[in-house]
Amino acid sequence: MAPASKRSERASRRRFLCQAGAAVAVGMGSVLHAKAQEKGFPPGTFLDVHTHLGQTWNSRPPLSATELLRWMDAHGVAQAVVLPLVSPEASSYPLTTDFVLRVTREHRERLIPFCSIDPRTSYQGGHRGLVGMLKRYRDQGCRGFGEHKPGVAIDDPRNIRLFRACAEAGLPVLFHLDNQRNWDRPGLPGLEKVLRAVPDCIFIGHGPGWWASISGQVTQKELQSYPRGPVAPGGAIDRLMEKYPNLYGDLSAGSGHNAIARDPEFGRKFLIRRADRLLFGTDFLYPGQPVPQFDLMARLKLPEDVQRRIFRDNARQLLGLKKS
Ligand SMILES: [Zn+2]
Repeated sequence: MAPASKRSERASRRRFLCQAGAAVAVGMGSVLHAKAQEKGFPPGTFLDVHTHLGQTWNSRPPLSATELLRWMDAHGVAQAVVLPLVSPEASSYPLTTDFVLRVTREHRERLIPFCSIDPRTSYQGGHRGLVGMLKRYRDQGCRGFGEHKPGVAIDDPRNIRLFRACAEAGLPVLFHLDNQRNWDRPGLPGLEKVLRAVPDCIFIGHGPGWWASISGQVTQKELQSYPRGPVAPGGAIDRLMEKYPNLYGDLSAGSGHNAIARDPEFGRKFLIRRADRLLFGTDFLYPGQPVPQFDLMARLKLPEDVQRRIFRDNARQLLGLKKS
């Protein structure tokens, strides 16, 4: 063991290198990196609202907490939400809430656990029973619910029961929407039904079906894909965000990147217009995974206050993260 002074010297050097690395990673964007360090929070520009630990897909290697933290240091990610995946449609291997709680336990100032329950799960005690299950997770440190990715319709009554329980437990719901999980129709009428039914629940949209709906004139098939080209007016996301203050968007994964990159002019205006409703995320889940979000955000040169809100402040506020 090195003497304390040497250790802290090394630690501060490591911190410096990490921060320098982060500035390089985002294209030396001085704007991106400005005021990245907020007192009381771990250093870094971003809060990543969407990562997974363990083995998600049979075709990909697993990701450990140490590897995730190293990647976060290299990219200026101060804190990351770690999402379980419990539905058979969600991943090749189940990643339980208890697993997520265990692997994040030593790093809770940087790794923020969410919990999840499949809507088809058996439980007793009705609404009270379900709220009790969620509160048990919340009391162990979970700050939100998701990734919610079950093979049911978004407006399935079992989903609505679950969302009502999340609202009561004070857990924001991060959901994946496509034609296999939480499915809906073009224009997202099912999601609107949910938003109307549970107005006191915070919803965070993610996935191909959600992000294809940034555009109008979407086909059913496009709700399972990554549509290219200009965004048509009349997209469901803008319409629903305008009407429902409890609706947010998670910019992670190929779908979140594509929604902005397919029409950068529309995308930039959308990010500015919805700066209070959008959350930076990556869906990082295996070592060496390419993550296009960092370059995209650097290229867009968003106003500094918009960056601050999307990159970290919105999520911190939504999840009730306090300065230490
Ligand atoms: Zn995911």
